[in-house]
Amino acid sequence: MDSFESERAPLPRNMIENSMFEEEPDVVDLAKESPSYPIDSDDVVYEPRSSRLLVRGLGENDLDEDEEDYESSARLLGMSFMNRSSNQRSASSSYTRQQPSGSCSMPSAKTTVVGVLILVVVVSIFMVIYFVPGCTFTRNGCPKTNSTMNNVYPKSTSGELFPWNELRLPSSVHPVRYEISLQPDLKNMIFQGSVSIKVEVLHETKIIVLHSSDLNITKATFEGKVVPVLEYKPWLQIAIKFPEDLKKGTYSLNIHYTANFSNSYDGFYNSSYVDTNGTKRVLAATQFEPLAARKAFPCFDEPAFKSTFLIKITREPNYISLSNMPKVKTTDLKNGLQEDEFKESDTMSTYLVAFIVAEFISYSRNVSNTTVSVYAIPDKKEQVHYALDTAAKLLKFYNTFFEIDYPLRKLDLVAIPDFLAGAMENWGLITFRETTLLVGNNSSPIDKQLVTSVIAHELAHQWFGNLVTMRWWNDLWLNEGFATYMQYMSISNVFPHLDINTEFLNVRFKALAKDALNSSHPVSTVVSTPEQVEEMFDSVSYEKGASILLMLNATLRDGEFRKGVIEYLQKYNRSNTESEDLWNSLSQVSKQNVNVSEMMHTWTVRKGFPLVTVKRNGTQVTLSQEHFLLNAENSTDNSSLWHIPLTYVNESCSVLSSCKQVFHLKDKTAILKLPAKVKWLKFNFRSEGFYIVHYDVEGWKDLIEALQNVTVLPCEDRAALINNIFALSRLGKVSFRQVLNLMNYIKNETETAPLTEALFQLGQIYRLLDKRSELNLASRMKSYIDDHFGSLMESQSWELESSVSKMTLRSALLEMACSLNRLNCTTQAKRLFDQWVDSNKTFQIPSDLMTTVFKVGAQTEDGWDVLLSTYKHSICDAEKRKTLEALASTQDVRKIIWILQKSLDGSEIQTQEFPLVIHTICKNFAGYLYAWDFVKENWGKITQKFSIGSFAIQNIIISATSQFSTKTHLMETQNFFSSLGAKGSQMRIVQEATETIKQNMRWMEKNLDTLQHWL
Ligand SMILES: [Zn+2]
Repeated sequence: MDSFESERAPLPRNMIENSMFEEEPDVVDLAKESPSYPIDSDDVVYEPRSSRLLVRGLGENDLDEDEEDYESSARLLGMSFMNRSSNQRSASSSYTRQQPSGSCSMPSAKTTVVGVLILVVVVSIFMVIYFVPGCTFTRNGCPKTNSTMNNVYPKSTSGELFPWNELRLPSSVHPVRYEISLQPDLKNMIFQGSVSIKVEVLHETKIIVLHSSDLNITKATFEGKVVPVLEYKPWLQIAIKFPEDLKKGTYSLNIHYTANFSNSYDGFYNSSYVDTNGTKRVLAATQFEPLAARKAFPCFDEPAFKSTFLIKITREPNYISLSNMPKVKTTDLKNGLQEDEFKESDTMSTYLVAFIVAEFISYSRNVSNTTVSVYAIPDKKEQVHYALDTAAKLLKFYNTFFEIDYPLRKLDLVAIPDFLAGAMENWGLITFRETTLLVGNNSSPIDKQLVTSVIAHELAHQWFGNLVTMRWWNDLWLNEGFATYMQYMSISNVFPHLDINTEFLNVRFKALAKDALNSSHPVSTVVSTPEQVEEMFDSVSYEKGASILLMLNATLRDGEFRKGVIEYLQKYNRSNTESEDLWNSLSQVSKQNVNVSEMMHTWTVRKGFPLVTVKRNGTQVTLSQEHFLLNAENSTDNSSLWHIPLTYVNESCSVLSSCKQVFHLKDKTAILKLPAKVKWLKFNFRSEGFYIVHYDVEGWKDLIEALQNVTVLPCEDRAALINNIFALSRLGKVSFRQVLNLMNYIKNETETAPLTEALFQLGQIYRLLDKRSELNLASRMKSYIDDHFGSLMESQSWELESSVSKMTLRSALLEMACSLNRLNCTTQAKRLFDQWVDSNKTFQIPSDLMTTVFKVGAQTEDGWDVLLSTYKHSICDAEKRKTLEALASTQDVRKIIWILQKSLDGSEIQTQEFPLVIHTICKNFAGYLYAWDFVKENWGKITQKFSIGSFAIQNIIISATSQFSTKTHLMETQNFFSSLGAKGSQMRIVQEATETIKQNMRWMEKNLDTLQHWL
């Protein structure tokens, strides 16, 4: 089985800008009761085909055939497989080589050799004549533009040839300064703009090529003279051709244009909300990363084309406008409008430019030389204070930590009512979802942990990303991995009570799960198409990036990591970098015998991570490494070796950091000599390294025995043992019996990290069994959970709680308990829900229990109606999301369909929540097939709202498919995605989805019997 991808995170919780919102610590779905609503057939407007076929008990598993049969029938169906493995290919070619015996006589070996030689010579001569251009043998070789490929130019919109044929812009012309003037019209949802770009010609050229998307260009002048503009829409480029070479020097290019506001969540888009008086309010905001600045103004939209920006915005007097820099003046215009002009910016990348026109209020505070302000809609003015306080503290921390002060005079944090990403680090104007910035009066420390995390992440970007920027999107991890790492590091320093280390541990487990699939990719990966750029915003860039930085920091001596980072930031201040630049800076400060560059190279250019196997014989320990790959038959590379800074402890000293010993494993195998005999060894201290450890039978046995005394290892190590043994069971290295042997200690466990990890792992298995209609096994799994966690579930309080760690634990336990229909849990939850309803929603449900309580409440008709009204009227976004999760967890099919439709069209449920809706519905048996069919049938609409490859799309696909574990569903999934063509068939996430289903199938086939026996 492997749905750990699926449940752990459709996209991970800490992927701050992206998707932390799609995940809550639910462990299993709600108990299935028969729908309490009689379904009127007239009301059911949507009935998925697959749901009609695949209902519980129909025995879909009977359809399973073996892999080979499946492949052949798929071939017959003409399906194209995204995930073809090399050995599948070789198998099919060996098939075609087979000749029917005796169909023709075989030529002699000699004739064959002579014939082949003649053929080779003829073909070679032909190829030389045909392909080698005339200039090959000249001294200068071929000028690049003469090569065969480069001579093929596309046609521009006007029919004339477009003078450029690459996705990346030519490097001969650089922008130096933009002056942008915008006149947004919020009534008619259009805007007019003009941009004056000062460009520098570095090499003589006859063309200027830049980006533009969905802009209607009305006039362009170059050095004051009108010039025609050619457009090639598929690549979002425009070009100006000149009859003569432009000499080196600076020139001025002016472009006037009009455009509609974007109706997706990127570019310059409009957003609306209804205030507490019932009035609809409209605003306009931007989201440019990665490729949408070109939707707001023509520009050189690549991160390495850094430039300065001077921005002017026209608005009505009752609105305010904001941009990256402080406002320098406001001018009254004749038409009653006003124009704000902002100070010219520092040199920066286009994706960091931002502007907003809205009716917001703000609170401010000075930190050093910077004015920090938090903006929100007036109805939520009481919810900004926590963010302001937190941002001020974190800004001070980073100013000190990096030894470079935040360079701008102002820092705005703005909560946007309709915003798809979690947050965006625009320099000086960070935009957030309301959930990630605003904290209500009743918000718990867990809600605050989320807000703190997002602010810490975005502030870290002001240095990592904004001051020093990756050269190209292949090194996105330099931005995201670093910001993610810094977010945990800063919070554990500044807000130790938020228990962020447990969260970071979970994040590392998530990253391992994703990276164990063949569909994963190296941290630093070649990307060229827009879809590939979008796909980089994933767990590998964020979470694996952060994990390998933790491993490096834990390997270096105290202070060296920080010193190297400071040196890197100083050296590359306001410029662009690649991974190697960071490693070189860190290598220079490392006083140890560790070649940082050589070590980290193995972690950034190879996908996946190592499995370290430990075999002990007395004092001699044999260590070996191999690629931990769940679908090994698809492996394309078996020779990967990592430079692993292996850490270990033993019984003589095992809890403190000072106990940790290090062994650098660089080869396939190595011998570690211990100075004395030990009872047991535990590798990967506190799971700080990005690898999984397997022990021989004795090694596991010794550790299981050692766990009789729970405190013998730090809680991170206990959680990691649980995580690792489940992963090894998926890999087939240990039996499920061994897993259960280790799990026996859990009755003595009290700490959050190991308990939530165990619940998570068991919950995944339970859900897969449930979805396969293995009712008997699902019920035995339920008894197993009852037996091992029951007393802990019973002992949880339902009162207000202040410890984050305790809240995290009890919300996981009680959510599981109520979903398994434990009477005590559902009764208590119902009691709180009724109290809340009876008090006209003034009774305070502990915030960490709200989802559980609401989910129980949502199972009755009245409860659901109350929650829907709460969703519509609540001004607390965190509460709204919990309410929506409860609404989407209904067992009533009519309601499920209603939510799917309303969240996609955005009429009653915000479209930004569509991924969360899909994720929540797919956890439950009642709706997961409906959700899948809905996704398939509405794919066109969905990809209009969310870009192909984006985190939202990744999230939707994984949520909708990761619970499948049968061949029928595998075929259906592959069939659907292969039919999409340009609309998404090439996405990496599609490969991940099919791989996950195959993994689920394999695990189930292998372990169903074991489960019968051992549960
Ligand atoms: Zn980020």
